[in-house]
Amino acid sequence: MTSPASGASTAADLPDYAPVPRSALGPALNEQGYYVGRVERNLYWVTDGVYQSAFLTTQDGVVLFDAPPSIGGNLRRAVDEIAAANGVPSTVTHLVYSHHHADHAGASSLFDGDVTRIGHEETRRLLLRDDDPARPVPEVTFADRYTLEVGGERAELAWHGPNHSPDNIYIHFPGHDALMFIDVVNAGWVPIYNTNLSEDVPGYMAAPATALSYPWTHFICGHLGRLATRDDVVVHQAYIADIEASAKQALATVDPVPFYMHYGENAWAGVKAHLDTVTDRAAAPIIAKYTGVLAAADIEIFTTTTFAIMQSLRLDRGPSGPVHP
Ligand SMILES: [Zn+2]
Repeated sequence: MTSPASGASTAADLPDYAPVPRSALGPALNEQGYYVGRVERNLYWVTDGVYQSAFLTTQDGVVLFDAPPSIGGNLRRAVDEIAAANGVPSTVTHLVYSHHHADHAGASSLFDGDVTRIGHEETRRLLLRDDDPARPVPEVTFADRYTLEVGGERAELAWHGPNHSPDNIYIHFPGHDALMFIDVVNAGWVPIYNTNLSEDVPGYMAAPATALSYPWTHFICGHLGRLATRDDVVVHQAYIADIEASAKQALATVDPVPFYMHYGENAWAGVKAHLDTVTDRAAAPIIAKYTGVLAAADIEIFTTTTFAIMQSLRLDRGPSGPVHP
């Protein structure tokens, strides 16, 4: 099958990209395909190299934060391994949803029995809509803030508005110097398509500043193979700010008229030619600046992030164009 994005018809025709900076990679996986590591004290993180989850072991049971299906049964193995080593019960008593997306929650149903699921009220509404047996709805919900205390440990859940998704929350571990906030910053890597598949672009762009407003040293970002640092968030912010500035400049300097003249009555062809040109103009210096700094910065289709930010500048912030006299 031909991929329209790469133009390749077989794997042999696929394009080459700049090497992934070693700093973007995490620890080696074990034979089962996962790595579990200590964040701080009894807070742990698990990765399969692409997705991340976290859990707290306590005297009263385990609190799991997200259940990505790609890690799946390895969550159980990781929890059992660590709980046994710490001499505490391995029963998962609580499962917190960061947001409703299936790729971070689709192994939730592996944890049945007496588990209490906790999430934002919008997560509950969206999971009721999605009606997916793999993602049971949370029984415990909150609107703005919720303090979860289990076995003397504490996690502070907070919703600060829509960003990647309408329901994406901040999970702060004040006793563990850690923050978990999923699908906005990818440690050491660029966001994938369309601002990491985000629904609210201004919310997505503002979210890293909110994350940095919390005190923490360790950041669980939900993707790829290592934990993030405050520096990772700052580099991500610079990347987004550079895209914003470049998109503004390209919007101001590319003259749309010749594109619409060229296509005449085919208005949508004119729109495509104009906006693709703006996107390419805006993205070129970003690709040049960040290749070798952030992994995958040179994957062309991820300029859809530049496109999304450029569109948000027009549609959310305005003006979308000159007012007809
Ligand atoms: Zn998501």
